[in-house]
Amino acid sequence: MPDFDPTADYAAIREGVAKVCADFPGSYWRDLDSRRAYPSEFVQALIREGYLAAMIPEEYGGSGLNLTASAVILEEIHRQGCNAAACHAQMYTMGTVLRHGSPGQKRRYLPGIAAGTLRLQAFGVTEPTSGTDTLALKTTARRDGDGWVINGQKIWTSRAEYSDLMVLLARTTPRDQVASRTDGLSVFLVDMRGHLGRGIGIRPIRTMMNHATTEVFFDNLRIPADALVGDEGKGFRYILSGMNSERILIAAECIGDAKWFLRKAADYARERVVFGAPIGRNQGVQFPLARAQAHLMAAEAIVYRAAAMYDSGLNPGVEANTAKMLAADASWEAAEACLQTHGGFGFAEEYDVERKFREARLYQVAPISTNLILCYIAERVLGLPKSYGELSA
Ligand SMILES: Cc1cc2nc3c(=O)[nH]c(=O)nc-3n(C[C@H](O)[C@H](O)[C@H](O)COP(=O)(O)OP(=O)(O)OC[C@H]3O[C@@H](n4cnc5c(N)ncnc54)[C@H](O)[C@@H]3O)c2cc1C
Repeated sequence: MPDFDPTADYAAIREGVAKVCADFPGSYWRDLDSRRAYPSEFVQALIREGYLAAMIPEEYGGSGLNLTASAVILEEIHRQGCNAAACHAQMYTMGTVLRHGSPGQKRRYLPGIAAGTLRLQAFGVTEPTSGTDTLALKTTARRDGDGWVINGQKIWTSRAEYSDLMVLLARTTPRDQVASRTDGLSVFLVDMRGHLGRGIGIRPIRTMMNHATTEVFFDNLRIPADALVGDEGKGFRYILSGMNSERILIAAECIGDAKWFLRKAADYARERVVFGAPIGRNQGVQFPLARAQAHLMAAEAIVYRAAAMYDSGLNPGVEANTAKMLAADASWEAAEACLQTHGGFGFAEEYDVERKFREARLYQVAPISTNLILCYIAERVLGLPKSYGELSA
């Protein structure tokens, strides 16, 4: 028997998450999607049941669970047809805070986050001019007396309007003055409360799916000295190690999506009768679904292997990136097969397939695009010449 069986282990967590999700059916998500509105009730329900505090240590009021359990939570949310994108950042930024935050920062923020009175949902890395080349980012944090002054712009900062805190990556030493090219960036835990219109501007970006993503502008924002996480200039490394957990958690969401699409498609293929027989009797309908199922199972194995490695204290860059790519591919393949199985009805909003189809497409691009993962594997595993910047620690 394998050490970890993702379908049987954590059964109580899966059951509990499924119970929460049962109150948020497709009609709930369709309504929000049409209005591009934030799923506040859903997020509140997850907070109430403690799921968003999964990774916060018990001493701060959380459940002290590991990344594997957190991946199971996110996978199950997506398997049930819900969408964790509105609130998953709290889990994937937690690694940076837990691994590199000071005892004072943990004491100040973690109990509130665990209780749901403080939201840590914004992650400010990507910028309009630097894109995937994180080391080229231009937002600066300048030391000034007893604090820091932030200037610059982020883009695709999801959930900024629904967050109190932001994990921010900014340049603290100019690029031409650092000893090592990966030095000079620092991570800050920015308390955004009270700064909207006073140092912070947020502009929502309407996207093809309901994602609450934004542009964030920093204009001489003053933050206290102790907003710095870890050592000054070492932030890029912290963000990279945190990105492994982000990739694994989002890969788990993709696994959940793939399971949703395949269950939905198989149910439909059994019921839909054309030419006097269920369409699922035709191999032309079965095979794309069966192939997607096989790819899903393979991706699921690497996702939970990467999670187990992370939980054992390793820094599984290759496994986390591979898991993200294979899981995103598996969910996209399942989405395509599901839509095709539904024929014309796949395009009708009331079936939820077209909405999930739009949502699944994102993970070919974010949080890291497929090309960049392939570049990373080519260099790190196959020893081919490097064709990009730093992607993983
Ligand atoms: C809905 C949404 C939510 C997001 N949320 C957040 C968030 O909360 N916080 C945050 O910081 N970021 C967020 N992002 C940003 C996301 O991580 C980036 O969009 C992603 O990393 C790609 O960066 P980019 O869009 O600048 O593309 P670019 O870096 O401009 O790349 C464009 C295309 O070129 C390809 N490419 C670039 N360089 C190479 C190369 N060397 N070799 C081969 N191909 C290459 C890429 O694969 C990509 O397909 C979000 C994005 C979206 C769309």
